[in-house]
Amino acid sequence: MLGLMQHRELLLSSILDHAARYHGDGEVISIRDDRSVSRTTYAAISRRARRLATVLLGLGVRHGDRVATLAMNSDRHLELYYAISGIGAVYNTVNPRLAAADIAYIVDHAEDGVIFVDPGFVHILETIATQIAGVVRAVVVMGAESEMPASKLPDGVALLCYETLIAGTEEIAAWPSFDERSAAGLCYTSGTTGRPKGALYSHRSILIHTLMLCGGDVAGLRAVDRVMPMVPMFHVNAWGYPFGVPMSGGTLIMPGRHLDPVSVLTVMNREKVTIAAGVPTLWLNLLNHLRETDAKLETLERVLVGGAAMPRALIAAYQDLGMRVSHGWGMTESSSVATWGAPKPATALLDRDGRIDEIATQGRPVYGIDVRATDEHGSEVPWDGKTQGELSFRGHWVASAYYRMPETAIGDDGWFPTGDVGVVDAQGNIKLTDRTKDLIKSGGEWISSIDIENIAVGHPDVLEAAAIAIPDERWGERPMLIVVPRAGRTPTHESLRDFYRGKVASWSIPDRIEIVESIPHGATGKILKTELRKVYAK
Ligand code: AMP
Repeated sequence: MLGLMQHRELLLSSILDHAARYHGDGEVISIRDDRSVSRTTYAAISRRARRLATVLLGLGVRHGDRVATLAMNSDRHLELYYAISGIGAVYNTVNPRLAAADIAYIVDHAEDGVIFVDPGFVHILETIATQIAGVVRAVVVMGAESEMPASKLPDGVALLCYETLIAGTEEIAAWPSFDERSAAGLCYTSGTTGRPKGALYSHRSILIHTLMLCGGDVAGLRAVDRVMPMVPMFHVNAWGYPFGVPMSGGTLIMPGRHLDPVSVLTVMNREKVTIAAGVPTLWLNLLNHLRETDAKLETLERVLVGGAAMPRALIAAYQDLGMRVSHGWGMTESSSVATWGAPKPATALLDRDGRIDEIATQGRPVYGIDVRATDEHGSEVPWDGKTQGELSFRGHWVASAYYRMPETAIGDDGWFPTGDVGVVDAQGNIKLTDRTKDLIKSGGEWISSIDIENIAVGHPDVLEAAAIAIPDERWGERPMLIVVPRAGRTPTHESLRDFYRGKVASWSIPDRIEIVESIPHGATGKILKTELRKVYAK
């Protein structure tokens, strides 16, 4: 017997409809490339997205077709998320920081017939024009007529102006309804190994992820919050904030391409941001700027972080500034959040250090996701906070295969192998120790590169650190530490090694240390250990 409740498909258009009707004056604030500020509302975005739907249909976009975006966070990118998915097509967010060859590969593999592009990224399309000319029929520049570049695109690829198209058209009457399992968004992973692979999110998976994200022990989003996702919309739906913030009616602040600490601080204070989300590198650069200038974060209450391990010292610094730091773990293939840190009754009364230790874990699985850590025989490791296992997960918003790669379908057991290694404590908190490929095994013992890095950045002279395995005749591998000093500081090898004593086993202390001016970062802001290994692990 079926229940007697109304059935409504879980579609993304329902989020925008809700925001427009019940939070119509809710603001979306975008910083443009020239640093001018655009202020609009959910009601206006909803009307423009309906016009954009007419534009898309006019460009021949149909249910299931892929449409690329090559853009930073903005109100226009938000309109595109909703308009493209709203008519049943699929927005394919392309990362402009990838190598041109990878961008060409993605556009070709996804068969993006239309590309929407920020004015500042048109040059990327020009460099790959001949490779994508057979697939792409129109390029729409996300700006006004005055921002239109002189076309260097091949004949047969129309170059169109976003604002002109929207101005010259009518709204669709209502968003269509269709199967909630239909694809809505497509995001290719950064491709650290091999070709980029596409995670294809459905309306249902994104919508359920959004409901979870808004929860009190997760991002806890409210109508009175002013939220700035510094994580880009081209990477894993900006962790879901373009859906969660409108669903909650909060103010959305879109920082655009200016993510240097001076710009970030200026926008945070001027726009009275209360919650901001970003990778640890962004928070590290901002903290460094605060320390150098004595500037203050005037309104920020909550620091949301993920994408890489947030070092304990960085957590402590922001907590001591009076902000609440929340640390989550996930990946492109899990639509963003798999675990999130929040106290439980057993840990609610921890002292400062205990709280910081808890935040330094990646948190516990949220409802909707199951995580397990297994040993080399496939058995689950004990929840003792010590025994390492390979992490896999399953859930309502975990990929079952990559787009157009049927050979990648997940096996019968239904668990997605994350490639991450970690321990689980008695509360079910997961603490990542490594990526499988980044593990350091010395004399038969595992050394956590994340632990080695976390300790290094706690040293007063250190800005950023990376630990990698280097081959060693006697021990198999030994840890090597690569360090970027803070401005004006010159840490010695001895002081760095001393700093490890009492914090880790003596055989875990790196014997080789290099002090460098900078460490390479990938397209999503993570340290590129593959590059470091090429240089040092000979
Ligand atoms: P991506 O799919 O590019 O977002 O990368 C996902 C990977 O980033 C994960 O498999 C982890 O290795 C890493 N990652 C994400 N969040 C965290 C975190 N909080 N701590 C440590 N590593 C993380």
